Amino acid sequence: MNSQSPQFSVIPQFASKTSENLSFAGWSPLMYTASYRNGSWVSKGLVKGTRLAIDVSASGVQFGQSVFEGCFAVKRGADILFFRPDQYHQRLSASCKRLCIPIPDKQLFYSALCSVSRPSEQWQLPFESDFVYLRPILLGSNGHIVPIPSDDYEFVILAAPFTRPYNHVGVNLYVEQDYGRTAANGMGAAKTAANYAHIYYPNRLIKGKGFDGILWLDAASHTFLEEANIANIFIETDSGIITPALNGHLLPGITRASVIELLRKEFATNVIEKSIDMNELITLHGNGKIHSVFITGTAVGVQPVASVTYDKKRLSWTVDTPLIMQLRERLIGIQSGNLPDRYGWVTTESDLCDYRQFEGLDV
Ligand SMILES: *Cc1c(COP(=O)(O)O)cnc(C)c1O
Repeated sequence: MNSQSPQFSVIPQFASKTSENLSFAGWSPLMYTASYRNGSWVSKGLVKGTRLAIDVSASGVQFGQSVFEGCFAVKRGADILFFRPDQYHQRLSASCKRLCIPIPDKQLFYSALCSVSRPSEQWQLPFESDFVYLRPILLGSNGHIVPIPSDDYEFVILAAPFTRPYNHVGVNLYVEQDYGRTAANGMGAAKTAANYAHIYYPNRLIKGKGFDGILWLDAASHTFLEEANIANIFIETDSGIITPALNGHLLPGITRASVIELLRKEFATNVIEKSIDMNELITLHGNGKIHSVFITGTAVGVQPVASVTYDKKRLSWTVDTPLIMQLRERLIGIQSGNLPDRYGWVTTESDLCDYRQFEGLDV
C-alpha cells in the first residue's frame, strides 16, 4: 500500500461536465491490482489510491505497451450488476494479443471486477451514484532501453462514480481532413494508449471554435466515416440506420453492438453496416433524408449529434428525436436492471463471482 496515495484523486478535466455532458469527478479510494511475474498473473487485491511504483523506462510508459478497457457496474438493491462482462473480457484479450501483453483469464478479470466494485466507498466518493465506471489498465512494467515487449506486467482496475445525463443540445463535430485516427492494418481496433496520444493535437487545433470533437474519416483517403471522437457513430435516415462497418481498425464498440441488436430486435429498424462516404452524408443531408445522428459508447451511452462541419459547411438536423430518446432509455433500462434483459447481457455480482468456480485461485 502506498501511504502517499490521496484519499481520492480528482481528475481536473473531469471535475465538471465535459463537452459530451458526461459527469465524472474523480477516482474512488481503492484500486484493484495484480502482477504478472515469471509467466503468471497473481492477484494482489485492493490497494489505496491510484499510484503504482513503476520504472519510467517501462515499455508501458515509454513505448506504449499498454491497453485498457472501460466498463461499469450498477448498484441495484444489495446486488451489483455488470453489463456484458464477457464482451469486455473478449475485447481486452484481443487488445492484449495485439500488444503482446499476457491475457488475464476470465476468472481473474471477473474476480477483479467484483473485488473493485464491492466496497461501499467506491460508490460514494467524490459523489454518490448507482453507476461506477471501471477502468482496467494493463501495462508492461520492467525497464528497457529498446522497444521490446516487457517480461513483467501490472493490471489495475480503477473505479469512478459517474452519471450519464442526456445531452439535449447534442454534440457538434468537426470533420478532420488532415490527420487520421488510425491506419489500415494498424491498431485502431485495440483499446491501447497508442490510439489516443495522436488525437490531442488535432483536437487542440479545433479548440475554442465551437466543436465538441472530431469526426474521423479513414486516414488513407479522408473519404469514409470512421468514428466520432472516441465513440461510434450512427445515422438515422429515411431508409433505416447506417453505421460504418467494422473494418479492422474501427474500435468495435460494445455499446455499438448492443445498440445494433436493440434496433433490429426491439425497434424493428433496418440497420446497415457499410462504408459511408462523406459525400453520401452530404447528399443525404441535402435531400433532407437524415432524421438524426447519434454516437454510442460505454461512458456516454447514446447521445445525439447536433451538427457535422465539413469544409466550412455545417450539416445539422433535429436533436431530440424519439428514436434516440427511446433507444437510450431502453439501453440504460436494461443496464440498470429496470427493464427485462432478453439477451443475457446483465450478470449479477453473485453470479459473476461465484466463488465455487474460483477454488484454489488467489482472489
Ligand atoms: C471505447 C471506444 C469506443 C466505444 O466502445 P464501447 O465498447 O461502446 O465503450 C469507441 N471508439 C473508441 C476509439 C474507443 O476507445
